[in-house]
Amino acid sequence: MAESIQLYATCCAICGTYDNATELYPANFDFAAFNPAIFSARRLPDRIHYRLVRCNTCGLVRSDPVADAETLTHLYVQSSFDYGAEVASLRRTYGHYLAKLRHYGGRSERLLEIGCGNGFLLEEALRRGYKQVYGVEPSTEAVAKANARVRPHIICDIMRPELFDANYFDAVCLFQVFDHIPDPGALLDECFKVLKPGGLMLCLNHNVQAVSARLLGERSPIIDLEHTYLYSPSTMSHIVEAHGFKVRQVGPVFNNYPLHYLTRLLPLPNNIKLPLLDWLGRVPLGRRMRLSVPLGNLYLIAQKTEVPG
Ligand SMILES: [Zn+2]
Repeated sequence: MAESIQLYATCCAICGTYDNATELYPANFDFAAFNPAIFSARRLPDRIHYRLVRCNTCGLVRSDPVADAETLTHLYVQSSFDYGAEVASLRRTYGHYLAKLRHYGGRSERLLEIGCGNGFLLEEALRRGYKQVYGVEPSTEAVAKANARVRPHIICDIMRPELFDANYFDAVCLFQVFDHIPDPGALLDECFKVLKPGGLMLCLNHNVQAVSARLLGERSPIIDLEHTYLYSPSTMSHIVEAHGFKVRQVGPVFNNYPLHYLTRLLPLPNNIKLPLLDWLGRVPLGRRMRLSVPLGNLYLIAQKTEVPG
């Protein structure tokens, strides 16, 4: 497979320009790096990345060049799913942001999550009163691990046109998905289409302008082969508005995590980190202590205020 991989130039997803960008970091990987483990959720950050550039006009950061979309899809389908002990933390954090939709008159009837993994957020949405929940997830392993209550409502695929009727959902959620998407404009158009008028979209993903990302620079875990685009509150608002949405709220995310999980994200070499993780996994401090920290993520709530023309 390695020999068949070709790299393609990317354009700014906001401006549509291929040039007019400044290099931030050169690529630091070789073709042998392309395997399903690279694309698995929650693996240890290994700081492999494509060449990173920033658009001179709008500031959107992107990988350029990248592998073709078909190769990416193939890798995501094969990727493993190992949220493990973090599911409870993520469910709590994501649930907190889901609850914010109520401020905008969002009905709690029909919800779609794009990139739902094993469907833990779909279970949380049911608990919070949503009547019908649907998920789309490319990893067969993740879908196989879903709870029987939500599994029948998860489509094992990438989000694409014709999966759902237009004007169907009250809410569409994307948790740690949007920066993996090679054609974010097409995905936003599809989200807009499947939402009812007045329906809400919730995105939660990395913030390239977060303090942690700025301090760590190229060593930040977000500078990663998996991410086609990296957004800030400004570029995230810009692209969402360019596709018809009205931005209702945008800001930093505070995650509630066990110390053990936070340690995984530290920029330490694995020969130090792995024994430390092993130790924290065995002592009560590492298992029980929780911290609420801005880990470099942003959230955005946007609304479909008009009927599509
Ligand atoms: Zn641009």
